Amino acid sequence: MPSYDFDLFVIGGGSGGVRAARMWASEGHKVAIAEDQSWGGTCVNLGCVPKKLFVFASRFSHDFEDAVHYGWELGSSPKFNWKRLRENKNTEIARLNSIYTRLLENAGAQMFNGRAKIVGANHVEVNGQKYTAERILIATGGTPFIPEIPGAELAISSDEAFHLNEFPKSIAIVGGGFIALEFACIYNGLGASVDLIYRRDLFLRGFDQDLRERIANEMRKQGIRLRFNEDVAKISQQEELKQVELKSGDKLVFDQLFYATGRIPRTESLWSDALSIDTQSNGSIVVNDSFQTSISSIYALGDVVGKKALTPVATAEAMALLEHFRTGQSQEFDYHNIPSAVFTSPNLATVGVTESEAEDQGFVYEVYETDFRHLKHSLTGRDERVYMKLIVDQPSDRVIGAHMMGPEAGEVIQSVAIAIKAGATKSDFDRTIGIHPTMAEEFVTLRKARD
Ligand code: NDP
Repeated sequence: MPSYDFDLFVIGGGSGGVRAARMWASEGHKVAIAEDQSWGGTCVNLGCVPKKLFVFASRFSHDFEDAVHYGWELGSSPKFNWKRLRENKNTEIARLNSIYTRLLENAGAQMFNGRAKIVGANHVEVNGQKYTAERILIATGGTPFIPEIPGAELAISSDEAFHLNEFPKSIAIVGGGFIALEFACIYNGLGASVDLIYRRDLFLRGFDQDLRERIANEMRKQGIRLRFNEDVAKISQQEELKQVELKSGDKLVFDQLFYATGRIPRTESLWSDALSIDTQSNGSIVVNDSFQTSISSIYALGDVVGKKALTPVATAEAMALLEHFRTGQSQEFDYHNIPSAVFTSPNLATVGVTESEAEDQGFVYEVYETDFRHLKHSLTGRDERVYMKLIVDQPSDRVIGAHMMGPEAGEVIQSVAIAIKAGATKSDFDRTIGIHPTMAEEFVTLRKARD
């Protein structure tokens, strides 16, 4: 048996990498982990966590308006202080970074602050030093993708959005996925004028059609200009502003232009040319059921593999990988029924199949749905809808999809996802007593299928 410096060398200190390093080290293995940016990766530093803090911030403008109808007198109109939000957010992120560091240290992992490169099937180089490892794990995540158009260097991505010096009075967001929609609602809630530019006729491709249409309506009602079937041809600087020339020929100016057109795996210069690690055409690393790449001692998981670019998926993949290390068995990771939420205003959340997937997959299905105004808005008069939908496989009565648009939809769907994962039937939903008055109770009181 050759002897190695480490049993496992993890490259990337994000959700997946830290989980794998920490758990494996705590079981007594010699583990190294390298990170060239901040500990915690995208989720903690430039993604889920700071984004959610911004979502909280953006909701206050709605709450201030609503509060008046509940008898509150707010005095002079509230003002938003971007720098205070940004600095408070930075303080919290720094706290989380140190927690990640402590967890790794306490587990006994050796941490390297530096960019690691795989220089052999069992060799990693970091900070000018070469180390050997029985196994290497790539968990380097992803990075924003901005298409090559003239003036693209003038655009920001989500990486910069968290650190802007000045809060933009006007912003255009390009894209129609999670990040584009969430930031459109964040900027709108914080008081910016927002245009969203998306190249097809309706954003959130792959989501249930009813959710897509309804969130488009809600965003329009809040004053977000949705420019569908439109794309950017050229960007130029006009004094302090960015001028955006659209393919339709329209020219618009904004304080900022934000590209949210997807993310690509972060593999640049990650391994030496002599090594052939198979990748797909989009750059994501090809792995087998045991997260093993085309080089058997090198593994990969999380966004760099890109099965589902979600933090809880990366951490679950890390746990499955360690189980493979322990047992030698391949791990059939179940990518079905993974719930997710888009933190728009109001939230969207979803688990299981969409109606069009049910159709395409040949299900004989029924749809139960409801569309109503939240009790809270009986006093505020706010014209904001809640929508909930269950898709039921008729022969087995199993609920195979649940979709919701409404306040805290993510919190609601998380629990519904347990029922769906456990194979609950519509009758199980029906015999569950609701909590009154809540929005979530509607999921157990839907009695009549849509015609
Ligand atoms: P998405 O893949 O969700 O969306 C990318 C969007 O950009 C799509 O609308 C796509 O359009 C559009 N697009 C792609 N290429 C171009 C192009 N060349 N020109 C114009 N438009 C283009 O990516 P995001 O960046 O929003 O998010 C990345 C991933 O991060 C998500 O898929 C998700 O897994 C994760 N994430 C999760 C969050 C959550 O859980 N709440 C929050 C944020 C991110 P089209 O539909 O035509 O392909």
